[in-house]
Amino acid sequence: MKALVYYGKKDLRYEDFPEPTMRPGEVRLQVKFSALCHTDFNEYANGPLYVSAKPHPRTGRSVPLVLGHEFSGEVLEVASGVTRVKAGDRVTVNAVDCCRQCELCQRGFGAQCASAALIGFGRDGGYAEYAVVPAECCHLLRSNVSLRAAALVEPLSVALHSLRRAKVEPGSRAAVVGGGAIGLCTLQALRACGVIDVYVIEKSSAKRRFAEELGATEFIHTEQSDPRQVVLERTGGMGVDFAFECVGSRPALETALSVTRPGGTVCLSGLVPHPIEFNWNDVLSKEKTITTTIAYNDEFPTVIAMLNSGSMKAEPLITQTLPLHEALDTLTHFEERGSTNIRTMIDMEL
Ligand SMILES: [Zn+2]
Ligand SMILES: [Zn+2]
Repeated sequence: MKALVYYGKKDLRYEDFPEPTMRPGEVRLQVKFSALCHTDFNEYANGPLYVSAKPHPRTGRSVPLVLGHEFSGEVLEVASGVTRVKAGDRVTVNAVDCCRQCELCQRGFGAQCASAALIGFGRDGGYAEYAVVPAECCHLLRSNVSLRAAALVEPLSVALHSLRRAKVEPGSRAAVVGGGAIGLCTLQALRACGVIDVYVIEKSSAKRRFAEELGATEFIHTEQSDPRQVVLERTGGMGVDFAFECVGSRPALETALSVTRPGGTVCLSGLVPHPIEFNWNDVLSKEKTITTTIAYNDEFPTVIAMLNSGSMKAEPLITQTLPLHEALDTLTHFEERGSTNIRTMIDMEL
């Protein structure tokens, strides 16, 4: 089958790759749509980071490996023991393939499972014509959810999970630092959950139209105004109840903290590449809560229901659609197009 295959740092190839074989409990999918994510670019540019350099302890997979963790497909066949889905079903894929045996998995914290394999990193993913995934990772789509939209259930689930981690309340006010894909998904989740004002703080003016279309109260351009000053003015000098750091940098974390009211919560969604020093007394004296978030646990069915009802939207996040054979060039030049590109979608039928 045709696939985008990761061999190592700066070595990603579009090539013929053996079709993965099914084991009991697994499902073979015809991939329909697959979205390009900055995490994949990071793996290409700086990896291997999440792809196992040695065989993954549970899946046995290592490089060369098919990337792709945001995708949807149609079930072609199911292995023995699978009753959750059947041939012909339209599904999207939860990329966390956890062991389902350990206490963390049993208690619903699969993303923290010590032997979790991320699909597209610890086992072959969705940048291919076919994918084999555990049936437990498959989620049926509702009737109003297209296969194209379904490929973005994954990043929307990341966003919804971050709101749950921060314990967001309806009627509150929030800020999102970073207007990229996760920031825009977080904005949508905040709106859907009844947050009355959402300020999107971002350094690239190209993101303004996306933030405004998806319901931002105000887009605050960091090079044109001081986010802290603007947010304090808009909130009677207090600051927002919740801030989401969706960049992964020290300045973004400082901005998130600076716009949060005393007693408010900052949620760290962005992966910070290096350790950073921090003055904790600023946080302590204002009794701010810092929480963190990674991936998702059981958010997929809720996001599918929210897309079905229209309370979240995938289409405004899709800025480009390509066939698989053109995706290699786009993925390896991801950052050059970063400011105007939110999500590039691979349509496997093109
Ligand atoms: Zn992603
Ligand atoms: Zn586990």
